Amino acid sequence: MTQDVWLERHPYLQPVADFHAQVSAAAAGIPIARAHIPNFDSYIGDYKAGIPLLQSSHAAIDLEPAEAILVSLVESMASKPLPEKLAIECRDSGTHLRREPNAPRRAVAWLFGEQTFNSAHPGLLRYLGWTALARFLCPLGDAFGTWREEEQWLRSYCPTCGSPPAMAQLVGSDPGRLRFLSCGCCGTRWRFRRMGCPFCQSEGDHRLHALSIEGETSLRIDYCEFCRAYLKTYLGGGSEAFFSGRLDFASPRYYRLRSWTKTVGCIPVRMVHPLSPPR
Ligand SMILES: [Zn+2]
Ligand SMILES: [Zn+2]
Repeated sequence: MTQDVWLERHPYLQPVADFHAQVSAAAAGIPIARAHIPNFDSYIGDYKAGIPLLQSSHAAIDLEPAEAILVSLVESMASKPLPEKLAIECRDSGTHLRREPNAPRRAVAWLFGEQTFNSAHPGLLRYLGWTALARFLCPLGDAFGTWREEEQWLRSYCPTCGSPPAMAQLVGSDPGRLRFLSCGCCGTRWRFRRMGCPFCQSEGDHRLHALSIEGETSLRIDYCEFCRAYLKTYLGGGSEAFFSGRLDFASPRYYRLRSWTKTVGCIPVRMVHPLSPPR
């Protein structure tokens, strides 16, 4: 699957894709410092204990340069030709970041859930903020991906930033099919066990279901009856990097803010069936 094919089948997503392309081009045009790569051997104990890289005192990643990238990206987007509502939101967000003392620092801390930040446009700021952070963290993420042993993580949250997954992906075919989770924030992908809910750790087969969506062969929704959380799951191969889930942040239907029953009400569900464990 490629983005072009996906857009051909879902033309209503074109305006979102156009905006995403504008943001990506603006981010690529900002000269930036890159996150420094720590000595991972000092971090190994925390890694095995389940502490994400960016939360470990043994990694000590300095996020200050990312603050300037965030401001530059928001201001760059404010100068672009955009639909009126988005243009206003970008201008407002840029003004907010410039006007209040320490606003960029507080905004970055807010992205990590460490403090509040009263943005009038939190969806847009979350999306632009994590786009800036992901760009800053990119080389670090690559090096971390090469270093870490996936079997020693297998946790339900991102090994880099600690966020819960935005999407899942099944790769390969049974019996050796692998399940990966994808971080909508920093963009990390990591291995997770084939069965089980990543939000409540429930492994009861009867509590986990898959919703097949009419007309979609490569996408389904896995949901958990126990905690009512759900996760979009991509079943295809190919160039799947665009299935990050980050754009969901900008939506009022952001998955963490609403129940799966409300989402199911918005899509034509073909069938619901229990997930069966791999044989
Ligand atoms: Zn992450
Ligand atoms: Zn659950």
